[in-house]
Amino acid sequence: MSDEFDPLVRPVAALRGVGPRHVECFAKLGIVTLEDLLLHQPRRYEDRRATGCTIAQLKLNEPATVLGKIVAQGVNYYAKRTKSVFEFILDDGTARLHCRWWNLPWLEDKFHVGDEVFVHGKLLSLKPRTMDHPETEVVEAGEEASVHLHRIVPVYPLTEGLSQRWLRGLLWRTLEEYGAQIPERHPTFLGGSGLRLRAGAGAAVVALAPNLDTNPALSLPRAAAVRSLHFPAELPETELARQRLALDEFLDLQLAVRARREKLLANARSQPCKGDNHLIRPFLAQLGFSLTDSQTTVLREIRADLARGTPMRRLLQGDVGAGKTVVAACTALMALESDHSVALMAPTEILAEQHFRNFTRWLEPLGVNVELRTGSRKPTANSQLSTLNPQLFIGTHALVEDAFTVERLGLVIIDEQHKFGVAQRERLLRKGHYPHLLVMTATPIPRTLGLTIYGDLDVSVIAHLPPGRGAIKTFVRGPEKLPKVWAFVRERLSEGRQAYVVYPRVEDTDLKTGTKAVMAEFEKLAKELAPHRVALLHGRLSAEEKESAMAEFRANRVQALLATSVIEVGVDVANATVMVIENAEQFGLAQLHQLRGRIGRGAHDSWCVLVAAKLTDDARARLKVLEETTDGFAIAEADLRLRGPGELLGQAQSGAQQFKFADLTRDLELAKLARDLAQRAGGSPLGARA
Ligand code: ADP
Ligand code: MG
Repeated sequence: MSDEFDPLVRPVAALRGVGPRHVECFAKLGIVTLEDLLLHQPRRYEDRRATGCTIAQLKLNEPATVLGKIVAQGVNYYAKRTKSVFEFILDDGTARLHCRWWNLPWLEDKFHVGDEVFVHGKLLSLKPRTMDHPETEVVEAGEEASVHLHRIVPVYPLTEGLSQRWLRGLLWRTLEEYGAQIPERHPTFLGGSGLRLRAGAGAAVVALAPNLDTNPALSLPRAAAVRSLHFPAELPETELARQRLALDEFLDLQLAVRARREKLLANARSQPCKGDNHLIRPFLAQLGFSLTDSQTTVLREIRADLARGTPMRRLLQGDVGAGKTVVAACTALMALESDHSVALMAPTEILAEQHFRNFTRWLEPLGVNVELRTGSRKPTANSQLSTLNPQLFIGTHALVEDAFTVERLGLVIIDEQHKFGVAQRERLLRKGHYPHLLVMTATPIPRTLGLTIYGDLDVSVIAHLPPGRGAIKTFVRGPEKLPKVWAFVRERLSEGRQAYVVYPRVEDTDLKTGTKAVMAEFEKLAKELAPHRVALLHGRLSAEEKESAMAEFRANRVQALLATSVIEVGVDVANATVMVIENAEQFGLAQLHQLRGRIGRGAHDSWCVLVAAKLTDDARARLKVLEETTDGFAIAEADLRLRGPGELLGQAQSGAQQFKFADLTRDLELAKLARDLAQRAGGSPLGARA
């Protein structure tokens, strides 16, 4: 379908009765085209059929809607006329309801005795029955009564200048006029005249997965779904409509991802990079530990990828501390053995420096040239000399910049992938001719999300941590316990261990929210933990300062590191066994899990203390998840449920952020369905509109 013939891409101004002022209001709601308008999702529905609630039936504190007539109204001024309360009394024949608004005296002109009004709100008191600031809708006599009365009506998110009733009327009329012209978004898969699932072009018979033909969302045409979204005959229709529209959204994304992948496979010819073991063998021999079964399995999958002529596109998932770095090193060695250069990108300078140190120690004895490129570490004249030999480049996003060029780039590795966007990843890949790609993440990705945002990658998982790790115990505490917490930390430091103390802010404590800043706490904590030495680490330090703080800590010349979440990714000091996180309530669960992953890396037992400034029930319930489990997947699922996908999506820039109807926390089945449908698309022309 070409957009030229699609009436729905027209601007809302094309509708009768929509003027420039409305257009401005709509823009604030993100509504520009007719399609946007038709997809404006009601925030709730009101059942205005005969079975409604009467004023006499209203219960305390329960939201409900009643319909009655205004029998009295007026404004009272007080405090020298600087304040006011407007009130009307509504009567529906069963009882009376007082409705009050503070400091909105102009409402007096909006309501009149005798008006019939819908009122929606919660009853505050019974004697007299009172609601404060309820939602209202005056019933107007006239032709559109059937839109607003005697049916289930939508209640929309509004913005100043739009009225509920006007918008509802507009949607009604727009549906009358255009409702039948709402096209299927993916006619190859869904909808069509028979409203049945249809085979992709070319495929004669479609073998349906068991979940495919039973999902009722499938047999609903998109046009019918849009109508049910606004004016359902029965309430359950609205959820089915949401699912149908969500399915279209999942399909949009799946098809885009698939198209990207198909284009890659069609065009890309990479150099086989599987290596011949002449570097890996000595590397493993001097490593000091043997690889776990999980690591070995993953490396076998990677080697098979690297042997092919089409480039690897693989996601390596493994919880914090699972040992992804060694896998990255072995993968790099395979490419280096095959005479190709490698670029490894990490999200922070601290992590890039740490990788640089490890890889230099591991690989330079084998004759591999390792180079560091960060914002503050540009190449020296000297290092340019060796560009003819394959090398390993390690860096931050400085690797993405134009100044960085590399010969024979065979492999790109991206650590902590969720911190980067797809665009950055692609830019780095373009420095070579279809290099292989390994991306690594410690963020355990709930399945819906994984299917949705990483649909173009093959996935390997390191399922088990290396053996010989001490346990991590986690405690949630209120701020009154801080003296005890510091005493506990002092004891651990006296035993020779080290500690991290994490704060949400760098410089100034926010007095309003009680959010502490690491610089403001430094002096106090230095005294508290004396004679042990403390150092600061946060994002505003220069690269050298950060590096020296880390070096001091690593060498145990500093026993406690006071830091912001800059240490969230990658930092690896096995002797650190204590982590105190202040204002823990301000962090997401997934992030706390990452932070906690900095400890428990050695044989000693570790302790993590989450100090919540305000230990509300809500905060306690959330933080309890961390007390109870160290399973990253369980934590990520909980985070997704409690906070939505924002933090987990991170920088992924996946398009999932634009979902209006799809809900990543509960639509796993739909996400799978979309993937199955898209997979069946084969090379057929895509039904999606751009
Ligand atoms: P992450 O997966 O979080 O990046 P790292 O790669 O930093 O984890 O590994 C964490 C620690 O575990 C490192 O100190 C690393 O040397 C160690 N390690 C990795 N693999 C093994 C193994 N097979 N046996 C023992 N220790 C290992
Ligand atoms: Mg790591």
